[in-house]
Amino acid sequence: MEKYTSLSEIQGLIAQGATTLPDLLEHYFLRIKEYEHLNAFNEVFFLSAREQASAVQAKMSAGRAGKLAGMVIGIKDNICYKNHKVTASSRMLENFVSPYSATVVERLLAEDAVIIGRLNCDEFAMGGSNETSFFGPVRNAADEDRVAGGSSGGSAVAVQAGLCLAALGTDTGGSVRQPAAFCGNIGLKPTYGRISRYGVIAYASSFDQVGTITSSVDDAALLLEVLAGADAYDSTVSALPAGPYRQIREPETKRRIAVLKETIESEALDPEIRQAISNSIELLKNAGHTIDYVSFDLLDYLVPTYYILTTAESSSNLSRYDGVHYGYRNTEATSLNELYKRSRAEGFGEEVKKRIMLGTFVLSAGYYDAYYQKAQQVRRLIREKIDLVLSAYDFILCPVTPTPAFRIGENIKDPLVMYMEDIFTVLASLAGTPAIALPLGNNSDNLPLSVQFIAKHFDEGGLLSFSRHFLEITKQ
Ligand code: GLN
Repeated sequence: MEKYTSLSEIQGLIAQGATTLPDLLEHYFLRIKEYEHLNAFNEVFFLSAREQASAVQAKMSAGRAGKLAGMVIGIKDNICYKNHKVTASSRMLENFVSPYSATVVERLLAEDAVIIGRLNCDEFAMGGSNETSFFGPVRNAADEDRVAGGSSGGSAVAVQAGLCLAALGTDTGGSVRQPAAFCGNIGLKPTYGRISRYGVIAYASSFDQVGTITSSVDDAALLLEVLAGADAYDSTVSALPAGPYRQIREPETKRRIAVLKETIESEALDPEIRQAISNSIELLKNAGHTIDYVSFDLLDYLVPTYYILTTAESSSNLSRYDGVHYGYRNTEATSLNELYKRSRAEGFGEEVKKRIMLGTFVLSAGYYDAYYQKAQQVRRLIREKIDLVLSAYDFILCPVTPTPAFRIGENIKDPLVMYMEDIFTVLASLAGTPAIALPLGNNSDNLPLSVQFIAKHFDEGGLLSFSRHFLEITKQ
């Protein structure tokens, strides 16, 4: 069976009468069944997706359909869709039905996308392998014994295996880019504040951002066009107008690119990733771009700073799951305190509990200054350093991940090993800049490799047009 890789291809087929949107949807349903063992979907929305597909088909036939007509898209299971379940892959929200839709869902539907289902992820988006999901790990379609990456692992595998055309994920410290990298997709994390988070289950609010996983740059650009922009329900969204991202083309002038020296030279970096990145750097030079190796001496501070700040924020965000307001409730407790304790002890998984406790610790009296406040100060230094580099260069180049997809079970027992996997992605999250993971072919075991580009705040237009050019010159 065929895998589609761009919306323009699908729209062409529908316009020629080679297929219809309802038929295309059935094609995806069949594929989802065929690849059920990958565990990418927490739920397939058969009913609402079929209704949406027929309604959009009618609009397409009448020539008055929206920009996303023909796009069958999956959403990470931490994004609310009215009258549908949303669980954050947690027992805590196992049976929770959302009473409203996230702004991103409203915007997808307003442009006639069909939402096919909700995708598995790490519990409350905390993880980098999709192994913390209450509903089990997602398997990488390139090697089913390996992880999909996380936390948006279901989103990445759904696109990788052609179970839908595109997917939404969320990226707090790499959760769109890292699974996209492990699965050979394109993963875009826009600037902090580019897309509304209204209706997105919060993990760490000064980091969380909705991102896209696609097989083509054009689809990433189109989705961003639809999703970005001010929202009266989320005051953190920028009022800057969203660009016509699809139309932006590379300028004649060549780009200046800073390669972060310590990331490429890092001992932790897999040699095949280093080689693939070096080859692509040669191709960029041949195409006339300027490449400079720039020192970034704060590399060792990234992971600690990220984990202090995100655990602190998550301990606050997750306090609402108390067995009273939302979701899971223990039914045997005989006092209010016991109800809180038992509901939270039983409703949350190990990783989430660990982070709530760590976060509560770093915020507690006597430790606040030493950890939380210090981490805020270091974050500022990191951001200033990145802004400085980006004042002299168009883009920063660095790896997405130190290794290709690792085996299921390999890292989950050791949180430090797992957290260190995030070293190259948390940089753009701490700085709030946009970043993209782009595929770089496969290694000798046929596992996808990737590279990351980081751009100035709100320069998604430049980042996307350059990404299209990069994939052309590296022929990905
Ligand atoms: N792996 C990182 C973490 O566990 C990133 C998660 C994310 O971006 N949601 O926090």
